[in-house]
Amino acid sequence: MSERTLSIVKPDGVEKNLVGEVIRRFEKAGLRVVALKMTRLDERGAAGFYAVHRERPFFGSLVAFMTSGPIVPMVIEGEGAIGKVRQLMGATDPAKAESGTLRRDFADSVERNIVHGSDGPDTARFEIGYFFSALEIPPR
Ligand code: UDP
Ligand code: MG
Repeated sequence: MSERTLSIVKPDGVEKNLVGEVIRRFEKAGLRVVALKMTRLDERGAAGFYAVHRERPFFGSLVAFMTSGPIVPMVIEGEGAIGKVRQLMGATDPAKAESGTLRRDFADSVERNIVHGSDGPDTARFEIGYFFSALEIPPR
């Protein structure tokens, strides 16, 4: 089924010049970028995006990291896009990520792991709407 998901090149990924590499891997896997921007989150924006994690011990550090520089959120479309993006990213902890995944290849730590991808259809809907207005996303 054709799906849409939200991916983000996180501040460390932008700093490491990996915007093109992340997109290239998505495109090589047959996925398509249908919306994209560069922006920067403030504390409220990062806390709202990661609200499900607000009770976790790493929350404060995660918010500080996500506000530390520009990010590149994008809407990715294609067959099974949610799962495919997660697969291309690899596990949250780069040490546990499969070889050939973005996080295994480029991430420094479980926090600074260069890329985000929605983990399911409901999350994808929420996260796409968090960064993109209806007018910025092509009709399906
Ligand atoms: N994170 C962290 N420490 C942890 C787990 C997660 O700093 O122990 C950060 C990391 O940047 C991760 C984000 O919080 O990407 C969201 O966590 P989640 O468990 O949703 O991982 P993801 O879906 O990004 O793989
Ligand atoms: Mg997640």
